[in-house]
Amino acid sequence: MKRAISILKKFWGYDKFLPNQETIIRDILEKKDTVALIPTGGGKSLCYQVPALILEGTCIVISPLIALIDDQIQRLKSLDIPAEGLHSGLDKIQQNIVLKKLESGRLKLLYISPEKLQSKSFRNLLRTINLSYISVDEAHCISQWGYDFRPQYQKIANIKELFPDIHISAFTATANKKILDDIIKYLELNNPAITRGSFLKGNITFAVIETEKKLKVLSLLLKEFSGSGIIYMRSRKGTVFLADYLARNGENVMYYHAGMDSSERHNVQLKWLNNEIRTIISTTAFGMGIDKSDVRFVLHFDLPTSIEEYYQEAGRAGRDGKKSNAVVLYNKNDLNVLHKNNIDTFPGLRDIRTTYYNLLKYLDIDISNKSNISKKIDLYGFFNFNGIDRFKSYKCIGELERYGLIILNIPIRNIHSELKINFEADFLEKIKNTDKTAYLIFKEVILNYEAVFITLTSISEEKISKIINIDKKEIIEVFENYKKKKYIDYKRQKSDFNISFVNKDFALINEDELIFRKERLENNISSIFDYLAYSNCRQKYILAYFGEKIKKPCNICDICQGVYDANYSRNRLELFTQKIDDLIFDYNTDIDDLAYVDTFLNRNKNIQMLKLLFKKEKLKTMGNKIIKSKSDE
Ligand SMILES: [Zn+2]
Repeated sequence: MKRAISILKKFWGYDKFLPNQETIIRDILEKKDTVALIPTGGGKSLCYQVPALILEGTCIVISPLIALIDDQIQRLKSLDIPAEGLHSGLDKIQQNIVLKKLESGRLKLLYISPEKLQSKSFRNLLRTINLSYISVDEAHCISQWGYDFRPQYQKIANIKELFPDIHISAFTATANKKILDDIIKYLELNNPAITRGSFLKGNITFAVIETEKKLKVLSLLLKEFSGSGIIYMRSRKGTVFLADYLARNGENVMYYHAGMDSSERHNVQLKWLNNEIRTIISTTAFGMGIDKSDVRFVLHFDLPTSIEEYYQEAGRAGRDGKKSNAVVLYNKNDLNVLHKNNIDTFPGLRDIRTTYYNLLKYLDIDISNKSNISKKIDLYGFFNFNGIDRFKSYKCIGELERYGLIILNIPIRNIHSELKINFEADFLEKIKNTDKTAYLIFKEVILNYEAVFITLTSISEEKISKIINIDKKEIIEVFENYKKKKYIDYKRQKSDFNISFVNKDFALINEDELIFRKERLENNISSIFDYLAYSNCRQKYILAYFGEKIKKPCNICDICQGVYDANYSRNRLELFTQKIDDLIFDYNTDIDDLAYVDTFLNRNKNIQMLKLLFKKEKLKTMGNKIIKSKSDE
């Protein structure tokens, strides 16, 4: 360990390891298989980088994302540590330079994607070099129980065909028992040393707010919290709307989602990292590999789909150890939506089969004698024809593709063209008489797609064509024409959908796997429901979910603070009075505004609190306004 400490001092400048780091490093140096379950921010990369510098040869690090690889390489190079990465983002020349360095034995760490490990030429090269050990980062990607499953991860262990004695170290920031079991199983770990860090986040106040007025409560929370934050939503459209709403209310926000092009995303991310914008409103696409230590709040405006996902996202708050907030906002309808979008619409084998035969019927195809037929398809028309829920139909087609019965020429998620309107609303009146067709089309677009004035919005020419009975080709012509004149931005769907029936063997569909995936979803979602309804310390709930027991409640979550207690704690009442003072010091306030004074409380509790203050004669009414009693001033 002396050697490890001197290396830590030399390259990183620290004098000692954190307790878990030392254990893990010792195990790796003793050539044991290891699994480290360490929460984000617990210094896990050090645990495999230090042994790599001590052991002879090159350590291969497997990592799921190019962004993560690049980030690590940059950091290591800045510390003068000989490390490189190999991934599809590099051109041939860059790759060759890395491979030359690897061959010459100069590298201590080589980061690769799991796909690379399966490449024949890469394996041939590996045979010729001295490998110290293999480190698997984000190892939860190996498990279908995780929220970020990568099938290629399950093939990592076949490297043992080349190096039967190689030892493997796995790292993850989740600690779910099922995932741990999968890591051990699929990496074929031999009696591994398991180190588990504590997942307690003692500086984060966890809270859940059920409210029918999410927007209002959100605005209040943003005023209450200081510093920078993230608001998570499920849909791309949602992020655009919310960003627009909050910006119009004077908040310094921008949205981020996977549908934006990469330079745009990079730009938003950078502005947020540099604190030029305070709050980023994002789909779950944002966050992995992002290192910002002073995030003060993470708000979920839509419900997450599992506790792992939630804790990972919430854990992006407060990495600097300072007080931070993680709040979930929801209403009854959100519960229904979560259930519907995930469980009710999860297709069973029968739905998939029905969809398959309906596709054949719709396209008038006889596949009995042929093995491969391709045909153009209007998916919108088909969804209506299929007779099952549209969203479910969409998922059924996805499953048919996933199991290799059909192939679509473009990914089904790219079903839409995109359009943004640059003209002002009164422009329509101007073209009403000069270009009647365009008038009708744009009127319909505006009616159907609220976001078109704000952002590139998914639209369907087919749908519009059906409603106003104008040929699809003509609609596209109008769009192209107005695009040339810069009245709109328009990205036409690359080509028509083409569907190929490549295999008719239903045995390809693994029903056990379908059932498993549905069960997993049900499990995950019911844990979220349990979390929302939990009446004990929230940290306790989450940690118990990960198999960790804490003796004392966290003392800072909404429940520990007595927010739901019928007898409010003195502190809470004082805080409440204080907030009312702040609110009505300068102006009179509607009763409805006061009903959300304490954002951690729902409307009824707020009103109860108000009643208490009336009883104590701290407040009185005037018309439909509430004002402070004169005696109080
Ligand atoms: Zn608590």
